[in-house]
Amino acid sequence: SPDTASAAVAAAEAHTARNYHPLPVVVATAEGAWVTDVEGRRYLDLLAGYSALNFGHRHPRLIAAARDQLDRVTLTSRAFHHDRFAEFCARLAELCGMEAVLPMNTGAEAVETAVKTARKWGYRVKGVPDGRARIVVAEGNFHGRTTTVVSFSTDPEARADHGPYTPGFDIVPYGDLAALEAAVGEDTVAVLLEPVQGEAGVVVPPDGYLAGVRELTRERGVLFVADEIQSGLGRTGRTFACEHEGVTPDVYLLGKALGGGIVPVSAVVSSQEVLGVFRPGEHGSTFGGNPLACAVALEVVALLESGAYQRRAAALGDRLHRGLAPLVADGLLAAVRGRGLWAGLDLPPGAGTGRQLSERLLERGVLVKDTHGATVRLAPPLVISEEDLDWGMARLREALRPE
Ligand code: PLP
Repeated sequence: SPDTASAAVAAAEAHTARNYHPLPVVVATAEGAWVTDVEGRRYLDLLAGYSALNFGHRHPRLIAAARDQLDRVTLTSRAFHHDRFAEFCARLAELCGMEAVLPMNTGAEAVETAVKTARKWGYRVKGVPDGRARIVVAEGNFHGRTTTVVSFSTDPEARADHGPYTPGFDIVPYGDLAALEAAVGEDTVAVLLEPVQGEAGVVVPPDGYLAGVRELTRERGVLFVADEIQSGLGRTGRTFACEHEGVTPDVYLLGKALGGGIVPVSAVVSSQEVLGVFRPGEHGSTFGGNPLACAVALEVVALLESGAYQRRAAALGDRLHRGLAPLVADGLLAAVRGRGLWAGLDLPPGAGTGRQLSERLLERGVLVKDTHGATVRLAPPLVISEEDLDWGMARLREALRPE
């Protein structure tokens, strides 16, 4: 019936916490860059699950890997070994140019794991006095929703009323090397940054920043932890956003697309020296590194090994940004930022909210989501066709044109 979608929205609102404000579309099926709602209407997905769907919905190779594993074994817990674990860890470490992998499930858990790793490394390897370890983070960061992670958020919405907050974090302006240098002290164990800030609105740091962070952290004996949970695995046209400045951090944090949009899979990837600080019993997760997760994530790694998706994201990203530039020139957008197939669009004053633009796009068959008031993020799946991308941008121009 025509009421199916609104009934589903009302039913959901009656029985769930209101911690989200979803757009009024109720998805029933999906394939590639397209989803279909309960009433049979199709939408082009230009959000791609906040980059968890880099390979599109239901990529045939990822679905096949999941199906195959469902017929074998799905969970062992880490009490026992299983036959997908070693290959997943080895191939992911190789993709990262690193040695070791500690698998978790969600992005926030990978960040928590990195905080624990850096502190433990600080005490056991660097020699920081017990209880004194500090971690430097950036203003405008988004690293997840746990109590410790929101403790160092600068977003009042994410942080308010969740205290008491975890101490031990120093917050500096993003992109400011001098401020970072001033904040790094004797007890600093890590600098934790997004190489491009996703939730903040796809904020790309000034040229030379990541290279400068690498140099500073190396000189001061501090771990450089790059949260590539949203920026990594092809999104920016490279496997990792850090590669745009030829930088290899000490620790990569991965999530989202690592699970192929099928299962939650995250990981901390680093050297044996760093991840070697953990002894049995000191950290873990029931589902972390489970056979189904490893099977799907291994296929994700296999998709990335050829570099084809990264090249595709770079080429489509050029097309996206070439298409968006005239919207700024015509005054329909105040600014466009981004790297690869990823863009943050700022609406000009008086042009309404990002939410309103998202709703106008929804009416035209395009899915996007606003962030922070007047910003909308585009993160199309890397499998999107040129035609569909152009079609989506044409709908964007329509939705931006004053009526
Ligand atoms: N880190 C970054 C850079 C993210 O963008 C996100 C999610 O948006 C997270 C961490 C948290 O991931 P999750 O929602 O899987 O906990």
